[in-house]
Amino acid sequence: MVANRLPVSRGPEGWRAAAGGLVTALRPVIAETGGAWVGWDDDPEGVPPRVEGLDCDLHPVTLSAHDVQGYYHGFANRTVWPLFHDLVVEPVVDRAWWRTYQDVNRRFAEATAEVVAQHDETPLIWVQDYHLMLLPEMLRSLVPDAPIGFFLHVPFPPPELFIRLPWRDRLLNGLLAADSIGFHTAQYRDNFVRSVQHLFTGVTALGDLLIRPDGRQVRAVAHPISIDTEEFGSLATSDETQHEYEALKEQFDGRRVFLGVDRLDYTKGIRHRLQSIELMLEREPELRGKVAFVQVAVPSRDDVQEYRDLRTQVETEVGRINGRFTEPGHDVPVHYLYRGVPREKLGAYYRLADVMCVTPLKDGMNLVAKEFVVVQAATGGDGALLLSEFCGAAAEFGDDAVRCNPFDVEGQSELMESALALDEIERKARIRRMAEVVKRTDVFRWVTDELADIEEGFTRP
Ligand code: UDP
Repeated sequence: MVANRLPVSRGPEGWRAAAGGLVTALRPVIAETGGAWVGWDDDPEGVPPRVEGLDCDLHPVTLSAHDVQGYYHGFANRTVWPLFHDLVVEPVVDRAWWRTYQDVNRRFAEATAEVVAQHDETPLIWVQDYHLMLLPEMLRSLVPDAPIGFFLHVPFPPPELFIRLPWRDRLLNGLLAADSIGFHTAQYRDNFVRSVQHLFTGVTALGDLLIRPDGRQVRAVAHPISIDTEEFGSLATSDETQHEYEALKEQFDGRRVFLGVDRLDYTKGIRHRLQSIELMLEREPELRGKVAFVQVAVPSRDDVQEYRDLRTQVETEVGRINGRFTEPGHDVPVHYLYRGVPREKLGAYYRLADVMCVTPLKDGMNLVAKEFVVVQAATGGDGALLLSEFCGAAAEFGDDAVRCNPFDVEGQSELMESALALDEIERKARIRRMAEVVKRTDVFRWVTDELADIEEGFTRP
């Protein structure tokens, strides 16, 4: 496995495997096959070669402050991220960042080739995400006999946006050396295929296959990532979550609760969501005091200017709404938490929510939506899911979610009200159906499908 980060973190009790669906899903595979993970390590004392509970060798790539600035904060997060999220903000184009991105990708490739050389049998190499798009091509020349897979965790933009990037053909060539390239949805896959066809006239598309002029075949497939449904089912019904839930129930007694849970990122549509809440309270005076909006905003990338600006804007919106609609002696309408919350608290909020607002302007998948429906279904809940048309999860939930266009702030505010007004039996049935979808295609299925596809796409040289 090659990813930007190693799957471990250091807590008060020492090193442990990182929480999260990807690591959980890979654990059984790694336990069976053994494995190695190559990733950037920024711990001052360095990560240990192994961490308890994760049957996998850790191979750190060390980066200088200059590398991190150009490769990670720069090209990955200020060029590719906004471009791949449909230009929600203007991408910054900087040649020095691009050079560093190439250098760092090269270092990852060399570190991976060294790991491969330690194995008797050439292992399968699985590369994750937009930080490492040049890796498949670099690895192909270093280890020609390895099956190479790539998965993109963010959207792939339509060709008319993608081709604005000065190094567009370099990125595509980087990816096209893989045996299989995975995307969350058929739409992202099609955007990629159309971009390839636009820029490289010699490539033929045949179903899931792309045939390069040199005859090499590449599979481009849609495999939606997901969550460990059992884990979230247990979280929903644990004693700690129940305890947290009862406390929240009491706190919000007599009010219907809208919930947002996001990293504080400009792609998540938090400002538009707040404006919709404001419009709803403005339009419907009888809802004031009867609804509350809880926004968990997990701090993210706060060393980037756009993210610091966003925080100021969001906090201004929250202040304005609370200033307008709080009655003296009563609770505020908007509860804003600028922090991550512990798992049990998160589970309790998911249980509490009458309407979960997942309204990104663009989002590759959005796991919060999946976690919400699973937690609700596990406890017989009847919460509604307000879901943006512009996230990967929308492709899976169809009309069981209340689908919204977050750019239409007024329309979204009306849909918030309709979601609240849905009949209870209807809401329960919708939650059950959406949770069924998540159960059928959980994160273990994603890993199995991805690995099978890489094997299948691989042709021995
Ligand atoms: N999350 C968390 N702590 C919190 C709030 C959320 O760990 O306080 C998790 C949440 O459970 C989910 C992830 O963060 O698994 C967010 O994933 P998503 O796909 O929704 O968005 P991303 O942050 O990857 O863009």
